[in-house]
Amino acid sequence: MIIHKLNPQGFCKGVINAIKLAKASVNDNNIKKPIYMLGALIHNEHIINELKDLGIIIIDEKNKSRLDLLDLIPNGSGTVIISAHGVADNIYLKIKEKGLDILDATCPYVSLVHKKVKEKIDLEYDILYIGAKSHPECEGVIDNSDKITLITSDLDIDNLDVKNDKIYVTNQTTLSIYEIENIYNKIKRKYPNAIIDDKICMATTERQKAVYESPNVDLCIVIGDSRSSNTKKLAEVARKKGLDTILVDNLDDLKNKIPNNINSVSITSGASTPEFIVDEIIDYLENQ
Ligand code: SF4
Repeated sequence: MIIHKLNPQGFCKGVINAIKLAKASVNDNNIKKPIYMLGALIHNEHIINELKDLGIIIIDEKNKSRLDLLDLIPNGSGTVIISAHGVADNIYLKIKEKGLDILDATCPYVSLVHKKVKEKIDLEYDILYIGAKSHPECEGVIDNSDKITLITSDLDIDNLDVKNDKIYVTNQTTLSIYEIENIYNKIKRKYPNAIIDDKICMATTERQKAVYESPNVDLCIVIGDSRSSNTKKLAEVARKKGLDTILVDNLDDLKNKIPNNINSVSITSGASTPEFIVDEIIDYLENQ
């Protein structure tokens, strides 16, 4: 089997920082216990289980917003970890009102988007934010103001009717660099004065480019959690390039999904996928 391991692999800086912060909190006497995690710190089950084993209480339920999840945490003493995806200002406020401390693991790339959007709102801009509905990062930005309109696809642009001459356009950090170009072009055609500020992060950009520029193979294997936005986008980019593609969470998942008669593969992984899972899969394929 010919195996092309695409680079980069392993955790991005935002994920490394979030995991470090969460793990260090457990043995830090200055951090009030119990420690709650509001939603998944990052979208990866393996890491979440590791943190649970350390005693961190994960507050996460499908289809519940961060605000809903916060209601599940009792008032009183303790600390709430904010995930790498960031949250809206009302969440910080409510955590404090509940008498809890905050440990903020928001990725700096996400914090920058929050900062830029707030600056532009203060300057009386209308904001168009491109993102995936119900994704925590997107929720964290758009819940901050009714001056922000969510764009989930280029079709949404047809229904836009912004009267303000001042329009600032930005986006979720983990979208597809190949998809967003069309959306930005369409916005520019409709609103030529709009300021476009693409905020797809470096980790996302590098991985997608590596997939798009990779050699043609029988199968592209994307390793990561299916809830992870940057992982899902890697699979989309591979399919856009015309590659047969599977998204797998781990080795067992791969064994169930890999078709017969595959002679060459390329391997990429999301920014929240532990490297040991990638290595396990490569070891297995090398022995086929
Ligand atoms: S994928 Fe990008 S935005 Fe998300 S945590 Fe990593 S560096 Fe930050």
